[in-house]
Amino acid sequence: MFKTYKATRQALDSKQVSCKDLVKYYLKNINDRNGELNAFLEVYDQEALQRAEAIDQKIAAGTAGKLAGLVVGIKDVLCYQDHSLQCASKILDNFKSQFNGTAVQRLLDADAIIIGRQNCDEFAMGSTTENSAFGVTRNAADTNRVPGGSSGGSAVAVQAEMCLASLGSDTGGSVRQPAAFCGLVGLKPTYSRISRYGLVAYASSFDCIGIFAHHVEDTALLLEVIAGYDEFDSTVSKEPVTAYSQNLQLKHTPKVCYIKETVENEGLSEEVKKATLQKINDLKAKGIAVEAVDFPLLKYILPTYYILTTAEASTNLSRYDGVRYGYRSPNTTDLVSLYKKTRSEGFGEEVKRRIMLGTFVLSASYYDAYFTKAQRVRRLIKEKTQEIFKQYDFIIMPVAPSVAPKIGEFSGNPLEMYLADIFSVQANVVGIPAIAVPNGTDQQGLPIGIQVMADYFQEEKMMAFAATLM
Ligand code: GLN
Repeated sequence: MFKTYKATRQALDSKQVSCKDLVKYYLKNINDRNGELNAFLEVYDQEALQRAEAIDQKIAAGTAGKLAGLVVGIKDVLCYQDHSLQCASKILDNFKSQFNGTAVQRLLDADAIIIGRQNCDEFAMGSTTENSAFGVTRNAADTNRVPGGSSGGSAVAVQAEMCLASLGSDTGGSVRQPAAFCGLVGLKPTYSRISRYGLVAYASSFDCIGIFAHHVEDTALLLEVIAGYDEFDSTVSKEPVTAYSQNLQLKHTPKVCYIKETVENEGLSEEVKKATLQKINDLKAKGIAVEAVDFPLLKYILPTYYILTTAEASTNLSRYDGVRYGYRSPNTTDLVSLYKKTRSEGFGEEVKRRIMLGTFVLSASYYDAYFTKAQRVRRLIKEKTQEIFKQYDFIIMPVAPSVAPKIGEFSGNPLEMYLADIFSVQANVVGIPAIAVPNGTDQQGLPIGIQVMADYFQEEKMMAFAATLM
């Protein structure tokens, strides 16, 4: 079937296919493979078929929206009114969204078709989609391997053609890293570019909705539909949204750099390093200046990220108390045991670890030593990163230090898992946009990605450049 919305829309407009045909095609792939891959937690089959019929009529009448017939899946952290929402956690058992998140609403208003809710790491905490209360999602390129995380289900759904695009969330790489592991494009826009209204909070000063697609043009198209001002999110930007998908041509020859410490990193696998250096050489051969820069702060980015995100998470997740949402332990005797038992039984291990870490760094005796210090380091990392953009248009680097690991490879070793986020967290700590695009495969045919980062709100030129890397 079609790999871009443009091709899909041409076929729809010329009546080669109907929205109903498209939905049936994706539903068949879901039926055939979701049992094994576990990308979707819930499939809205009847609803999607009904919507397809309604949109087919709109197409016939010439009143169809910008994304008519675009079949999309959403990560289980996005609110879709009257649909279950669980963040892949037992603590939200039987919870249903009361409203549509802004991004979801804008998809619906543009006549996209939401086909289902996708698996992820519990509350988006993880890098492998193994921390889900509903089992691991498998990578379609090799089903013994993880798809990455935390938006693993959203990546695999696009990879295995169960939908054309997905919305995920990226707090520290959760869209870009699974995109890289599954051979897709994954976009994380500037912090505040897309409203977070209706995105369940993990670490509010880092969280971004992100987009998965096969090609950059579709991430651009979806971004221009869902981004922009929203009265329901006080942090969202008023910066105008341009027609990203119409402007994917570079206007000037860009100046590009890479951070020396990334390609020289000892954790970087040989094959990812080779692919990255190859890409750098290809760019140079095309006459683009690509220079190495030093960024000695690189090693402080990951600790800064994990201190601040766990602190924010411990606060955000305090709302799951057995009173207001979802699961309540049946074995309680009084209010304190209701809180304790509900939270002990409802949350998974990784989420509990992070709540404890976050509570620790925020505790009175350690607040300054950890939380305040990490805030200062965050500021420093921001300033140093912005200095780079005074001289260069883009920073390129690997997305992850290796290809997709085997299922279970990180089990019992959370630190190892955290270390794998080394290249993806900078964009979130700073708040700048970043995009992962495919960069070939290793000898076993496993996808490798490359990442482009740009200055605040430079999505348009970042995507134009990223499109040339594919
Ligand atoms: N792997 C990172 C973490 O566990 C990123 C997660 C994310 O972006 N949601 O925090």
